[in-house]
Amino acid sequence: MRMVEIIEKKRDGKRLSRGEIEYFVQGYTAGEIPDYQVAALLMAIFFQGMEDGEVRNLTLTMAHSGELLDLSDVAKVVVDKHSTGGVGDKVSLVAVPAVAAAGLPVGKMSGRGLGFSGGTLDKLESIPGFRVDLSVEEFKHQLKEIGIVLSGQSLSLAPADGKLYALRDVTGTVPSLPLIVSSIMSKKIAAGANAIVLDVKVGSGAFMKTLEQARALAEAMVRIGREVGRRVAAHLADMNQPLGHAVGNSLEVIEALATLRGQGPEDLYHHALRIAGDMLHLGGVCEDLEAGEALAGEMISSGRALSKFRQLIVAQGGDPSYVDDVSLFPRAPVIETVEAAGDGYLAAVAADQVGMTVVMLGGGREKKGDPIDHRVGVVMHAKVGDRIEKGQPLFTVHARSGDEAERAASRVSHALRLSSEPVEPLPLFYDRII
Ligand code: URA
Repeated sequence: MRMVEIIEKKRDGKRLSRGEIEYFVQGYTAGEIPDYQVAALLMAIFFQGMEDGEVRNLTLTMAHSGELLDLSDVAKVVVDKHSTGGVGDKVSLVAVPAVAAAGLPVGKMSGRGLGFSGGTLDKLESIPGFRVDLSVEEFKHQLKEIGIVLSGQSLSLAPADGKLYALRDVTGTVPSLPLIVSSIMSKKIAAGANAIVLDVKVGSGAFMKTLEQARALAEAMVRIGREVGRRVAAHLADMNQPLGHAVGNSLEVIEALATLRGQGPEDLYHHALRIAGDMLHLGGVCEDLEAGEALAGEMISSGRALSKFRQLIVAQGGDPSYVDDVSLFPRAPVIETVEAAGDGYLAAVAADQVGMTVVMLGGGREKKGDPIDHRVGVVMHAKVGDRIEKGQPLFTVHARSGDEAERAASRVSHALRLSSEPVEPLPLFYDRII
């Protein structure tokens, strides 16, 4: 088999056989096929798409590119969650400890920033010492001991996704249904959870811009999960503005900690409760989603979710004093607030532009393996539908220099649209797919 022929076949819109899919996934994982050929194939998949059977073969081949975790000796039921990627999406940092605090083990493999969307691992690494490269033994041991793990892909699980994910991030090949399905579900299958809740984002700050595309993505993931014997539910969630207020790594951790203290933004709190509630429901702890949400809410109001988060940070080598005192997080040298130039209602936010601004500020990667600056970001002060008065703070930029702050402020200003007419607030969710 020759890689160039596989690329040409997909370029011309033909179906790849299981053997061809295995050839490129295994060859790339083993370092035998170069980045440039895989990048070309990813772009061909981006334009030509894949049939259901190809997506299933790609997902399973990626899942089997490393070890498949068997967690039956660790706990009877383990749950997991995954987001398809959004701007300001720090839901895992709130939902995962809330579920674990209720006694249901969560073993989660998270990712790094992808395109304009942030990644849980990058966010957590804002806490000095926090390790995301756990071995399989460490993953299982920690899950058994404290019922919570948030780890990265450097363990031997789904290594194919680890490599493809980093390549997609810098080749414009992220927003592709087959590539997102295989990336997420290969990790979920490899990580061994029995129940999986998917947070499928739709809108300007998501990879799926329409409800129709997001629904197709959710249905494909639920189908594959079911086929391999997992309990799966997907929530179609609005991403037409950043979730919460903060976008940027340490700013988001600070906001997640405020939410765990019951002092976070309303939208983030309710979003996290919905996801945590369904994890508790699918994991068999609560009879229905509503009961799950109520239990997750109790975990937050009692402080147990925050204690669980602290326990997670300690277990993975992070400095817990940052959890106790968020003023320890280093601040960017330039912090500038932009005020509204006129009155009106916030009508729309190009959330992907806000996400790209944070990448440009140094909070994400332009090239594979680029270091990131955890301090930088943007904090939005208004939600779609809010009444805005002239002179009111609209957003704050945290930057490394005055020049960068100025460029970021101009980009975010262009991403906002004000209207003189009242505007309806956006919903949090559109549907649940099971
Ligand atoms: N999250 C992932 O893990 N993979 C994607 O492709 C998108 C979001």
